[in-house]
Amino acid sequence: MAVLIDGKAISAQIQEELKEKVSVLRNKGVEITLAVIQVGSDPASCVYVRNKKRACENIGIRSLTYELPVETTEKQLLKLIEELNGRTDVNGILVQLPLPEQIDEAMVIQKIDPQKDVDGFHLRNVGALCSGQNGFVPCTPAGIMQLLKRSGIEVAGKECVVVGRSNIVGKPMALLLLQENGTVTVAHSKTEDLKAVTRRADILIVAVGKPKMITREYVKEGAAVIDVGIHRNEQNKLCGDVDFADVEPVCKAITPVPGGVGPMTIAMLMNNCVESVL
Ligand code: NDP
Repeated sequence: MAVLIDGKAISAQIQEELKEKVSVLRNKGVEITLAVIQVGSDPASCVYVRNKKRACENIGIRSLTYELPVETTEKQLLKLIEELNGRTDVNGILVQLPLPEQIDEAMVIQKIDPQKDVDGFHLRNVGALCSGQNGFVPCTPAGIMQLLKRSGIEVAGKECVVVGRSNIVGKPMALLLLQENGTVTVAHSKTEDLKAVTRRADILIVAVGKPKMITREYVKEGAAVIDVGIHRNEQNKLCGDVDFADVEPVCKAITPVPGGVGPMTIAMLMNNCVESVL
């Protein structure tokens, strides 16, 4: 039976550690403030924003929420970001994605001061990650590295396969594994014979956005499997990109959905907020 990688517990542990750091900073007179901007009221975004605010409260980070109407123009949003960039009492700025179609997401992200870009999406931070320099690292892949580390899963020298090459998960994930000396392959929708590629993996990270796509034929016996996907099935229950029931018996370790990667994303956002004042 595979070891269950408990993201909920590891996230709680990281948040406890951060709480301690925030309290030490507060005693030195340093307050941390995260500004969260949401445009429109997409239900999933509302849940994410609420969870982020809750995590801030739990850790002792002040959060400012800007709930803008769905018809907000790009110009109005850029103006707000400019104001927040200029405020010395705001350390982190997060724009909840996706944005309504009249707003160019890339343009908005580039407007955020890279030193306040706690999501790690600004090109300056992307460049820092590519070249191994300090910067904010995107929260989901950073969280996965913590899951591996804190579960004692060695990356150095191992075959790591990342399925998915998005800017927010797949690509930064590959770079982080490479930084830890993994031998990294990135697969995507044009990959020929995906099963042959994924079956090489000692560590298989799946971020394809396709419910239960990865069955045991894709997995090498004894691999560690990390499932990034989040979906709701026909019964309105959460499931991942990996068919958990099918894959669990053949692997060494696996993340569940829910309770695997999801909680880590928030923990690492909080970590980036703390880093923003260090
Ligand atoms: P994207 O849709 O941006 O990227 C999906 C990637 O998967 C693309 O690179 C695509 O390839 C690849 N892909 C799609 N179909 C196949 C296929 N049949 N075979 C091989 N590769 C395929 O998704 P994200 O990276 O943003 O997210 C992935 C999943 O993770 C989603 O379910 C999302 O909800 C979830 N997620 C969860 C988070 C968390 O906190 N737990 C955070 C972020 C995302 P190509 O580039 O060729 O099109």
